[in-house]
Amino acid sequence: MEKNNLGRCSELVSHQYSFHPVQCSFKAVVVRDRKGYCKKHDPEYKKAKRKEQDEKWDKESNERAKKKKRTQLEKEYCKYISTEELERRVNKSKEIEK
Ligand SMILES: [Zn+2]
Repeated sequence: MEKNNLGRCSELVSHQYSFHPVQCSFKAVVVRDRKGYCKKHDPEYKKAKRKEQDEKWDKESNERAKKKKRTQLEKEYCKYISTEELERRVNKSKEIEK
């Protein structure tokens, strides 16, 4: 693979001053499906990036769900305890933590 013969990236990108997308102006560094792409538009790179973002999002939404459940359970648990009792328990837990 001759790096210098790849030409420009074949990705079409939206252009600031044009309604129609224009060809990416970066030099191609990889060939996928006989088309050259710059580093940023390499389909494999984009795929990996998307996967990474998906996983990050999954993790975050997982943590959000966990937190939500925790808050919900706390609320429910406290519903059956008087404020005084709750305060007593919190203070006792603080004592233990020390
Ligand atoms: Zn490009």
